Amino acid sequence: MEKKRIYLSPPHMGGKELDYVHEAFDTNWVSPFGPNLTRFEQRVCDYVGMKHAVAVTSGTSAIHLALKYIGIKQGDYVFCQDLTFAASCNSIVYEKAIPVFIDSEYETYNMSPIALEKAFKKAETEGKMPKAVVIVDLYGQSADYDKLLEICNRYSVPVVEDAAESLGSEYKGRKCGTFGYINIFSFNGNKIITTSGGGMAVSNDEQAVKKMHFWANQSREPGSFYLHKELGYNYRLSNICAGIGCGQMEVLPDRVEKRREIFEYYKKALSDLPIEMMPVPEGSRPNFWLSVFTVNKSCPITAEEIVAKLEQENIEGRRFWNPMHNQPIFKDYEFVTHLEEGNVGDDLFARGVCLPSGSSMTEQDLDKVVSVIRKIFDR
Ligand SMILES: *Cc1c(COP(=O)(O)O)cnc(C)c1O
Repeated sequence: MEKKRIYLSPPHMGGKELDYVHEAFDTNWVSPFGPNLTRFEQRVCDYVGMKHAVAVTSGTSAIHLALKYIGIKQGDYVFCQDLTFAASCNSIVYEKAIPVFIDSEYETYNMSPIALEKAFKKAETEGKMPKAVVIVDLYGQSADYDKLLEICNRYSVPVVEDAAESLGSEYKGRKCGTFGYINIFSFNGNKIITTSGGGMAVSNDEQAVKKMHFWANQSREPGSFYLHKELGYNYRLSNICAGIGCGQMEVLPDRVEKRREIFEYYKKALSDLPIEMMPVPEGSRPNFWLSVFTVNKSCPITAEEIVAKLEQENIEGRRFWNPMHNQPIFKDYEFVTHLEEGNVGDDLFARGVCLPSGSSMTEQDLDKVVSVIRKIFDR
């Protein structure tokens, strides 16, 4: 019999999603308009503690709208975390702006305040000040916002928080997705909750959200005929997908709790191996979207080898995000490092492994993953 595949982070429905979808069918709101959309937006706002939200087709489109609202134009510079998924910076290039990649720190895996300060000093002397800074909360761990926001505020540059992976995470008692001027979430199939595909931009600036909403609906001016004064985008989420989101929001606290348990389970079961689970600094309370670890520098076993061995057992592990400065399409852009020599992103990428972390995992699944990992180190 074929072994059941253990996925990295599969969708996990709560049970109420179909009720909202049925309601959409029954009332014929089978379109990018309808009550599920406002309901979903309201639920996310209430949960994280923000005033306004617009639901869109992806986290990527949310970042695009956020950067557009901030006024990113051709030739502008935008600082962006280097160790992340390409979606964090693709939108910068959509607008023909110029990304400058900022290295990570070991404490959070996220943007290094030291590298950020270095980048601002350099930009100031060269007259290349950025229009925005995109900070990411990787694997559900918050960046160090006290330090990062102090720097960005001092230089008066707005922040976009890419909280695609960190819905439900906290930093010093405050939810992730509340730290920037505009913040975004993703509801892609592999995230902590999903709408099968979707995203959201949130802000306390009502004007900002209204404008992003307008652009997401093709920039259609109100009136009886079609009038477009600005370039538009077809980015609005459908009322069907928003219905899935309404159901998922009801179980989000459970999903966060379960992922935290999974991390603790791995941490305990693997505690004697030459690896380090993601560090959690004081004040940070991750949602542990993924349970991740790095192999110790002195250990000859590579991350690549571990992922390959997991695959042989039909278990989906992953390497860490490959930093943006390594991507052929982005390699010519500037990269400001945390270290004098080398950089943190490459080191984490070389040694990092993401473990299956789905909230629907059973104890047998977890034991299976643990035993395969232990076997790799047992030689
Ligand atoms: C998933 C993800 C995104 C993009 O979200 P989509 O909804 O897939 O467009 C952006 N940034 C990070 C860090 C992500 O993990």
